[in-house]
Amino acid sequence: EAKSSGRNLFRFYEPAMNERIMERRQLEMDMRQALRRHEFRLDFQPRYDASSQTIVGAEALVRWQHPLRDLLSPACFIPLAEETGLIVELSDWVLREACLNALSWGDELMVSVNLSPVEFQRSDLVDRVATVLDSTGIAPQRLELEITESVMLEDAASALTTMNGLKALGTRLSMDDFGTGYSSLSYLRSYPFDGIKIDRSFISGLDQSQSSEAIVHAIVSMGHALSLTVTAEGIETVAQLGKLTELACDQAQGFYLGRPMSPLLFQKVLADARVERVLEPGVS
Ligand code: C2E
Ligand code: MG
Ligand code: MG
Ligand code: MG
Repeated sequence: EAKSSGRNLFRFYEPAMNERIMERRQLEMDMRQALRRHEFRLDFQPRYDASSQTIVGAEALVRWQHPLRDLLSPACFIPLAEETGLIVELSDWVLREACLNALSWGDELMVSVNLSPVEFQRSDLVDRVATVLDSTGIAPQRLELEITESVMLEDAASALTTMNGLKALGTRLSMDDFGTGYSSLSYLRSYPFDGIKIDRSFISGLDQSQSSEAIVHAIVSMGHALSLTVTAEGIETVAQLGKLTELACDQAQGFYLGRPMSPLLFQKVLADARVERVLEPGVS
């Protein structure tokens, strides 16, 4: 009795499941094609020095301009790219495009690129990054690679080897979404990070709760004790920015300061900021 009803239940779900699988397969084919047809593009979100509020760089964020859909955000396609291995090809494109854009900003600003944990599970990541540095000619210290702590959860030993390899190339490493994982603190001690990015959830909490402020304060102090650059992400209000400056956070990123924008618009923002600096020489 129970068995047959279980089978019915299975049959009941089967069409929907097939549909999902077909849809994913379609998406995967679309994605391969999208890579060939150059449907991916990068937005850049400016990153500021918190106290002077001058731009110190930008984070590259990938989007997919699908011909038949709206602009797709990374949450819609990065997981599938990871599952299918297409993430490597996509990420090679992102790395190269990000570096080429950075070269057009002059020779000082940083560019940050998000890497997937899947890329760390493969042995070729250091070579891939070296190739991009070589072929674009960007100074390695201008490239910052953002990783989340899931990288260390997968295979701690090989993650360390890869991270040391990336450091040896001269790139910077930062831990993204800091504070959301389980063991972020211990990782900071054992891995060669240059910076941490405090997760948005703590920043939005700054308006509402004393505890968020205490946590951010603790993260900034600890980061500085470990000689790390501390960046706050997801700043949406002037009050949050004020609080973070008060808490001596080094860098700031968020909709209040600047949304992710097209390369062209970012260049315009940069140019405007430079003009402003010339007109107000007192401000650094
Ligand atoms: P992330 O690296 O933590 O990037 C920050 C995300 O927060 C971005 O979303 C950004 O648009 C958004 N954001 C920035 N400031 C604010 C704010 O003030 N308020 C709010 N509500 N959101 C803000 P996005 O572009 O949708 O990217 C989501 C995630 O996708 C990224 O999180 C990153 O983990 C991943 N991702 C993006 N581009 C790439 C890529 O090229 N490669 C890989 N592997 N992952 C990527
Ligand atoms: Mg990031
Ligand atoms: Mg983040
Ligand atoms: Mg993230």
